[in-house]
Amino acid sequence: MQVVKGTKIVNGIAIGKIKVYKAPVYEINEELINDIAAEIERFEAARLKVQEEQNALYEKEMKEGHKDTAGIFEAHAMMLDDEDLIDSCKEIMAEGHTAEFAVRDGFEAAAEMFRNMDDEYFKARSADVIDLKNSMLDVLFGADTANLQGTEPAILVAEDLAPSETVKLDKSLLLGLVTRQGSSNSHTAILARSMNWPTLIQCHDAADDWDGKFAILDGYNSCIYIEPEQNIIDELTAKQKEDKEKEAKLQELKGKPTETKDGYKVRLYANIGGPKDINAVIENDAEGVGLFRSEFVYLNSKTDPTEEEQFQAYKKVLEALSPRLIVIRTCDIGADKTIDYMNLDKEENPALGFRAIRICLTRKDFFKRQLRALLRASAFGNLGIMFPMIISKWEVQECKAILDECKKELEAEGVKIGKYEIGIMIETPAAALCADDLAEEVDFFSLGTNDLTQYTCAIDRQSANLERFANTHHPALLRLIRETIEAGHRHNTWVGICGELGADPELTEEFLKWGVDELSVNPKSILPLRDRIRNTDLSNYNSNQKTESPAAKSENEASKPKGFFGRLFS
Ligand code: PEP
Ligand code: MG
Repeated sequence: MQVVKGTKIVNGIAIGKIKVYKAPVYEINEELINDIAAEIERFEAARLKVQEEQNALYEKEMKEGHKDTAGIFEAHAMMLDDEDLIDSCKEIMAEGHTAEFAVRDGFEAAAEMFRNMDDEYFKARSADVIDLKNSMLDVLFGADTANLQGTEPAILVAEDLAPSETVKLDKSLLLGLVTRQGSSNSHTAILARSMNWPTLIQCHDAADDWDGKFAILDGYNSCIYIEPEQNIIDELTAKQKEDKEKEAKLQELKGKPTETKDGYKVRLYANIGGPKDINAVIENDAEGVGLFRSEFVYLNSKTDPTEEEQFQAYKKVLEALSPRLIVIRTCDIGADKTIDYMNLDKEENPALGFRAIRICLTRKDFFKRQLRALLRASAFGNLGIMFPMIISKWEVQECKAILDECKKELEAEGVKIGKYEIGIMIETPAAALCADDLAEEVDFFSLGTNDLTQYTCAIDRQSANLERFANTHHPALLRLIRETIEAGHRHNTWVGICGELGADPELTEEFLKWGVDELSVNPKSILPLRDRIRNTDLSNYNSNQKTESPAAKSENEASKPKGFFGRLFS
């Protein structure tokens, strides 16, 4: 038996034979040719064919209800119309090189440009360009790529997989996925998550001679067993069976209340990045949206989105998910999320630099465009406006003053504005420690534990080398969370958690004991978390230090004195 470690992307167990997936390798003719026009014609024909394929993949994914994946192919089809990319390939051919040569060098150069970007999201886009390069070469070489996956169900092992390769796979034959390369931001990882395939990336020791061997991929322990011993087979087969039963049972929780055995209700919301996630909210039965990361509206746009473009995106989400509460966070650009058109200076310490609300309060016109769009959208649903990276009360006051200014302008223009709540992210120790003061200004807090962990422990959230020192349950962090919840409640301010920690089942009971009002998590975590909460019993927990939170008050009213707060105060 051989045990090889990797980085897990999706939990779960896959059991079966391994198929090593190998993309074809092409030998490109380096010699100069004479008929330049013929090469350009071959290039154009290949480009249109690949574009057609990408459009067909888009249609296929849309039909199967995979909007996220469909979006990738829509973007690919658009990339193939990129004039800079086409021109650079044509220039290479004009020097007398073959279409294959031009595709290899032209697409490589474009991929390199993405690779050199600071932003992790854009870095990962280099894989899309390479994917298109390979598809172009497949067409130019007339390769038959139909049967790379084999014909039996298998755990696929590959160097890396491009989105078009992944999507072309016959899903009924795919038991799990292992790649030697790949990053957690890559499309393979995104696809694997959305398809829920047990997946390991960066499994550097994966070997070609595994082909055909029996294996078990154990996503829970981030490893793959090659030719496992009988006790491992028995143990993991039982675990896989248990998982399948659990998954089926989770579906039964749709429509059921999120409350503990003793009746304490908590709001279970989803984190989203834009209108494309509306379906995930509905399918996973989220009760609202606790974090709409509006910066994705900016990241997905080539130029600064207009007020109208932003309004349309916010309205779409609010309308589609009404009457759920939708908390939209104002633009959190900077640090790891940079955008060319923002022309931000390079900083030594971007996480401690010009980001989020600091940009918005400095570039008032930019901020006002978003606030006006949000206020206009407020008429179409139930809106919460949330400001990120707050450290001081004056920042909140200034945000509110600008919001008021926008409101007055819109009212003067005769625009209808709905009701909305105002909140802030608590993601800096400064905000957590001054929560009593800040609570006077807002209706709600949302604990951004991703940044709060980074700033409390001084551990860069982007660094993969600090694993040993990172502790997502660090006592200092947990204390800040608990004290923020208590401070919020002292001032009638409801408190949620929208960082990754909100979905950590090991902390659910603690969060509930501390009186958290809302947990906002990735849509896939909604049902498992609802299950965790419904299996929690707080009846033996006694606290005499809480004030009733507004959220608990309204949502537990019906069940009093049965509810948690009801019991404490009845
Ligand atoms: C957080 O910091 O926990 C958070 C939710 O914000 P983001 O991950 O977008 O920085
Ligand atoms: Mg954050």
